[in-house]
Amino acid sequence: MSEICLGIESTAHTFGIGIVDEEGNILYDEKSFYEPPVGEGLTPRKVFEYHAGNVGKIVKGAISREISVVAFSQGPGLPNCLSLGATIARYLSLKLNLPLVGVNHCLAHIEIAKMLTKCKDPVVVYCSGGNTQILALVDGRYRIFGETLDIPIGNAFDMLARILGLSMPGGPKIEELAKSGKWVELPYVVKGMDFSFSGIVTECEKLCKKSVRKEDIAYSFQETCFSMITEATERALAHTEKNEVLVTGGVAANRRFNEMLEIMCKDRGAKLYSVPIKYAGDNGVMIAWTGMKMFKTGITTRLSESQIKKDWRVDEVDVKWT
Ligand code: AMP
Ligand code: MG
Repeated sequence: MSEICLGIESTAHTFGIGIVDEEGNILYDEKSFYEPPVGEGLTPRKVFEYHAGNVGKIVKGAISREISVVAFSQGPGLPNCLSLGATIARYLSLKLNLPLVGVNHCLAHIEIAKMLTKCKDPVVVYCSGGNTQILALVDGRYRIFGETLDIPIGNAFDMLARILGLSMPGGPKIEELAKSGKWVELPYVVKGMDFSFSGIVTECEKLCKKSVRKEDIAYSFQETCFSMITEATERALAHTEKNEVLVTGGVAANRRFNEMLEIMCKDRGAKLYSVPIKYAGDNGVMIAWTGMKMFKTGITTRLSESQIKKDWRVDEVDVKWT
């Protein structure tokens, strides 16, 4: 009989549950998203309270189905949000007598993108609200070739959105504004394979105070940040001699980002794969799918090992599947 995996995502702004079968068919996919008031970032207590008040109907809809394994986001993320998801997962596992699998959230962004795009062995560009990394699978682990030295790119988009008085999530609104913007000079911060965004946001704030057009700030911010990531990705491609690039995470929804990566890939004879927008941001399906892959290779998480790992890095996880 085919296994069915229920996956719980609960690392930050999104609480979601997905259910998948062994072939990757999506049988259930529900989520709720905390949107802070304009001008505010994610306050952990408020996010938690929002999720705690909303999980009921999502869990209820999920547990009316046949399930054979329970997966959950074990880290990295906001501790109180992680604990909420982990507690529900432990309860379901005990109540229904099902195996439990703790999933690395970053790995799940990669695995769902691989499954949905059918790419094989890519250099991964993982850009979200909580992480920005360039990775590739080498000798059974995702090695991090380059990453942000300060804030993640999605977070930088959201900070800029707050400066410009836009609502959350900021990415799509800045992308829209940028369409009618013109170039203004911003710092370009690449250090080796790593990059940094907070100084760029500060510079944008200064420009905003000098009444530079919001459209121009949005355009220049996008052009600069995406050029930096594309440059480092190109070097990772050259180093690993791979011929696929996979872009995943919430920021993968940005069309201009895809365009830049596409041009770079074309120049190098590589192919760009981009996660479908519906699964670019956090979702339960990615946890269910990764949990399924882990379970099928014999990995389960004992209750005594199921504590959350708020700083869990993806290069600590052995990847025993293809
Ligand atoms: P995640 O953390 O993977 O759920 O992704 C959420 C992040 O993606 C947020 O910081 C959003 O601002 C960002 N995001 C979503 N859509 C876009 C977009 N079109 N352009 C840039 N950033 C985006
Ligand atoms: Mg994420």
